Amino acid sequence: MYNLELRSDTFTKPTPAMLDAMMNAHVGDDVFEEDETTKTLERKCAAMFGYENALLCLSGTMANQIAITAHVKAGDEVICDALSHIYLYEGGGIMANAHASVNLLHGDRGRLSSSQIEDVIKPDNVHYPVSKLVSLENTVNKGGGSIYPIEEIKRIRQLCTDHGMLLHLDGARLFNALVETKESPLDHGALFDSITICLSKGLGAPMGTVLLGNKTFIHQARRIRKRFGGGWRQSGYIAAAGIYALDHHIDRLSEDHRRAKELGKMFSELSMVTDILPIETNIVIISLDPMFLANDIVDQWMRLGLKTSPFGKHQIRLVTHLDFSDDDMDNVRQVLKQFQPR
Ligand SMILES: *Cc1c(COP(=O)(O)O)cnc(C)c1O
Repeated sequence: MYNLELRSDTFTKPTPAMLDAMMNAHVGDDVFEEDETTKTLERKCAAMFGYENALLCLSGTMANQIAITAHVKAGDEVICDALSHIYLYEGGGIMANAHASVNLLHGDRGRLSSSQIEDVIKPDNVHYPVSKLVSLENTVNKGGGSIYPIEEIKRIRQLCTDHGMLLHLDGARLFNALVETKESPLDHGALFDSITICLSKGLGAPMGTVLLGNKTFIHQARRIRKRFGGGWRQSGYIAAAGIYALDHHIDRLSEDHRRAKELGKMFSELSMVTDILPIETNIVIISLDPMFLANDIVDQWMRLGLKTSPFGKHQIRLVTHLDFSDDDMDNVRQVLKQFQPR
């Protein structure tokens, strides 16, 4: 029985070398700010993206929610795409944690244009919530790993500055974008008030997301993280995995992208597949002929050891990662060759 794990890039397990780095980490109590390895990771990320400071958080959801909570007041408005993770997959946290309102826009595969945002910014009038924060995602998960063009981000940055709004980036897969565009972390760091970088997706660490921002913001974020129950102790073991991932697992993301494109080709040959979103990074979203239900097909593949995720009634998502090899690609080909949908 195969184990072809394409449900998510979160399934990766630490490599022996990463485990070694974790075992040898120098640790202390991070709530007392005495964990040297955590501080090293935070300084490393801050320097990489040109920020004053950084904060290692347990998960991407926690880091995004801390950022939003720090940026807005109760009753303010967050502007984001309807496909964004902060809205769809964070348990309603924009409301529950930050007590903010959401203005959902419909962009191109999850990417908003500056003019779309400009059209909905509320004037200063007591009737309205205060348009306070714009949040972007790069790459966009629900958009099939689509990359945000940096020229558009620059226009959005200018718009935010002109209107006294803040700009946040959910950069869970930002490195996937940077590997393709060859833009530098500094190019992107210069454009946002805060960024979250996930270490446990394509980079292969077991957990951890780094939140980036200026000193005052990170000080506030540290307080909110503690309130959320996210103050941790010997986090250096996790930070060591993050440092290892940043040093060794960024460039190889392009291999995941190559495999995603090949998978796209393979799946496009199935007669029940009607459409595939453009494949820009490590995510493949296929659409099925409406006579097939995504849940049914995912179940049938699962029984053959081909693990995928339903992503809507007739859509299925596949994600390539560090633990999905060229041999696995061949095995997917074998499974599909014999597959007859029921
Ligand atoms: C995975 C992911 C997150 C964070 O998820 P956690 O599971 O909480 O670490 C945030 N944004 C996007 C776009 C993601 O794909």
